[in-house]
Amino acid sequence: MAKRALITGVNGQDGAYLAKLLLDKGYEVVGAMRHAATARIGRLVELGIHKEVEFVELELLEFSNQVRVLERVRVEELYNLAALSFVGVSFEQPIYTGEVDAIGPARLLEAIRTVDPTIRFYQASTSEMFGKVRESPQNEDTPFHPRSPYGVAKAYAHWMTLNFRETHGMHATSGILFNHESPLRGQNFVTRKISLGLARVKHGEEQRLELGNLDAQRDWGFAGDYVDGMWRMLQQERAEDFVLATGEPHSVREFVVTAGRHFGFDIEWQGRGAEERGVDRISGRAIVGVNPRHLRPAEVDILRGDAAKAREKLGWSPRVGFAELVGLMCEADERRLRDGRLLF
Ligand code: NDP
Ligand code: GDP
Repeated sequence: MAKRALITGVNGQDGAYLAKLLLDKGYEVVGAMRHAATARIGRLVELGIHKEVEFVELELLEFSNQVRVLERVRVEELYNLAALSFVGVSFEQPIYTGEVDAIGPARLLEAIRTVDPTIRFYQASTSEMFGKVRESPQNEDTPFHPRSPYGVAKAYAHWMTLNFRETHGMHATSGILFNHESPLRGQNFVTRKISLGLARVKHGEEQRLELGNLDAQRDWGFAGDYVDGMWRMLQQERAEDFVLATGEPHSVREFVVTAGRHFGFDIEWQGRGAEERGVDRISGRAIVGVNPRHLRPAEVDILRGDAAKAREKLGWSPRVGFAELVGLMCEADERRLRDGRLLF
């Protein structure tokens, strides 16, 4: 009989890729969204799988709703990918972020314990929990020092996942994933902001792309590779936690230059601080600027992950490298603008 899995946040970046992966493996996929009527399912449409997913309405803030859904759908695996996932917003909405990203997963764990404690649970934890990093690279044993309400909330959910495993014997796993991007990334994240922003400049729709901290460095991988790691974690006989990362940090600045090349720009940096500009040597135009509005009250300067444990125990390693990832994102946004089909 086909396995059944529930994915919360199915219409997000990772949800869409994971749904596709599980469908390809022969799973029946139940996709949870907050409100079916208003949900934006453009990512599932772009992957051509929106008709294969069985949708249910599930809200991370609503315990009884979660219990009813679990009683009705009866799944073996639950991937909790739903979250307020944008660090920037979490500074402005810290309490709500805690309700969704910290207590939300705790509610789900309680709902599983109530309905069927044999359901295998995956929690989408994050390298943002390392924050002001204590060592480099970061692995499963590196202490946390989160720098945003998002990171703090995710750290609570991480420990609750371990706690349910240890106290109730549940198969509950926390996947500590470093940043992962793709053509399906949300527009507010810096990578997609750059691929779409420079595509717009190229097409004459915008004059300039405005960013914040150009020096921040992230260990950026490809989301398609990372959802495969999530699945591998839940196939383990015994639940444990894993880091997924490439081990290779790159700066926002490097991302801009690499994406610029894709669009035929040759970007050099001039000026300093808020006056810094990315100037296209070919046209002489300043096409990238700095706007302090995009700076954060507290920043995570550099993240670099060590995925040795996942490599050894799960046989997982990332396939798509940095330059290929940037290329995939730029190509997709260029095509979307050309076709007038920007679905998300
Ligand atoms: P997205 O922002 O693309 O997707 C988040 C999903 O969560 C959306 O479908 C959203 O629905 C849903 N959601 C938000 N709030 C609620 C709520 N209250 N109840 C139910 N659903 C809700 O995130 P990603 O796909 O990029 O990330 C997936 C998970 O992995 C997230 O938990 C994120 O924090 C975590 N993560 C991501 C990393 C990355 O680099 N991408 C790195 C490490 C961890 P709606 O469309 O209605 O808003
Ligand atoms: P995060 O690592 O989850 O916060 O992912 P983001 O893509 O939102 O941000 C990655 C890094 O890029 C952070 O250090 C941001 O401060 C930095 N950054 C610089 N400019 C921008 C911008 O305009 N938007 C966003 N989202 N991030 C930016």
